[in-house]
Amino acid sequence: MTVPVQLLDRIRAAVDPAGWIGPGPDMAPYVAEERSLWQSASPLVVRPKSTEEVAAVVRLCADAGVAIVPQGGNTGLVGGAVARDEIVLSLGRMNRIRAIDPANHTLTAEAGCVLASVQKAADEQDCLFPLSLGAEGTCQIGGNLSTNAGGVQVLRYGNARDLTLGLEVVLADGRIWDGLRGLRKDNTGYDLKQVFIGAEGTLGIITAAVLKLFPKPRDRATAMAGVGSLTAALDLFQRVRGRAGDSLTACELLDRRSVDFVLRHIPGTKSPCRQRHAFYVLIELTNASVDGGLTSVAEEVLAKAIEDGLVEDAVIAASAQQARDLWRLRETIPEAQKHEGGSVKHDIAVPISRVADYIDAATAAVEKLIPGIRPVAFGHLGDGNIHFNISQPAGMAAADFLARRHDINRIVHDLAIEANGSFSAEHGVGLLKKEELERYKGGIETDLMRILKRALDPTNIMNPGKVV
Ligand code: FAD
Ligand code: ZN
Repeated sequence: MTVPVQLLDRIRAAVDPAGWIGPGPDMAPYVAEERSLWQSASPLVVRPKSTEEVAAVVRLCADAGVAIVPQGGNTGLVGGAVARDEIVLSLGRMNRIRAIDPANHTLTAEAGCVLASVQKAADEQDCLFPLSLGAEGTCQIGGNLSTNAGGVQVLRYGNARDLTLGLEVVLADGRIWDGLRGLRKDNTGYDLKQVFIGAEGTLGIITAAVLKLFPKPRDRATAMAGVGSLTAALDLFQRVRGRAGDSLTACELLDRRSVDFVLRHIPGTKSPCRQRHAFYVLIELTNASVDGGLTSVAEEVLAKAIEDGLVEDAVIAASAQQARDLWRLRETIPEAQKHEGGSVKHDIAVPISRVADYIDAATAAVEKLIPGIRPVAFGHLGDGNIHFNISQPAGMAAADFLARRHDINRIVHDLAIEANGSFSAEHGVGLLKKEELERYKGGIETDLMRILKRALDPTNIMNPGKVV
């Protein structure tokens, strides 16, 4: 669709001179795409500085029937912020922390605040904002909420949805909904904020949010255990959870191949254990109290697990640096995997009790499909959310491998659904997984989604063609 020149003029006039970017080199970061799967293009990137400016731009677009792609840090992995000749509305200049209420344990941030800056603002108040993910230096709160981002501390604190108490949203007709309430209890009708969280920009534009703060951890124990099987990894998770309770903040799985890739490609990393193990479990315990008891808890559980033959070897970080080194092994897996050629990535979830059966079945099935294929299974064991990212066989042409992505997806996603799971636990639907949504959620669920979409965005100007 070509956007009328007069509309572009009106949008430019609705914001200050630094509030828009036309086609050219300055537009590049806004039309880039994380996975290079799509070519994004837009006649105008508009960067409003206030909610009122966002509303003014939306009203102009609504009157003209022209579509908008909301955009945060543009780090999303499913093409949700890709423009196909629509107006890109970037929230990046709306980056103020509007308020911090330490007594209410809340922080009110504009949508364009970079996640790391929100973490920092909380930290300066001696509080914790627990959302944490690899892209935190670039992704923005509005994008985090619109994708209901997860990350490594969901086990303890929940995902973005669980961390949000209130929202301000510009609706598809340009009205501003002020739902910036910092309440933990409010049963006055439908919980409308939940409709916009995870909607990937298809229902309205989030302009600000009231976020929950938590006491800062003062005691921490980080450990890595080597185990011989997935069932042992899961048993260990249950034991630690039983003993450490809510102190268990993260429980991450790394399979042998993922650790091998990291040791091979990421400078400065070293093997966590003396020997190689089939799987590794990274455990982090944190507590707001300062009694220093968590290391003893970790020692006790791991010593007993070794004695019982469940764990083959384990290491507990003796310093903050050692803890960071253990986390680095986990966090650099995606980067290391890039060095091994083409890969097809997944972020499935299954009930925790079925993770072992799932990974075994999916591994066997993809190995049968393409001999020599190299599945890498890692991720959020404690949430049942596994990144089952599959590298090409060594020596195969990347393009030949990637041409099989649909066959691979079919196996990986079918098995997740058979296990009562999800084909996307973290990254969302965007453009990449629309077909999967139709396939696995067709019927009542997609009907209801479309009813919502039509009700909130009757002229289909909010990120059209994404999700449903
Ligand atoms: P964008 O990419 O700009 O947008 C994402 C979607 O939200 C788009 O559909 C867009 O239209 C919409 N949107 C953005 N802002 C708004 C708004 N204000 N109002 C309405 N709609 C909006 N994800 C996880 O869940 N867990 C992880 O651990 C994780 N790790 C990652 C690590 C790396 C290295 C990278 C590159 C990505 C990772 N991601 C992860 C994916 C991504 O970072 C998250 O989905 C993030 O929350 C997206 O935020 P963003 O600001 O970059 O959003
Ligand atoms: Zn993840």
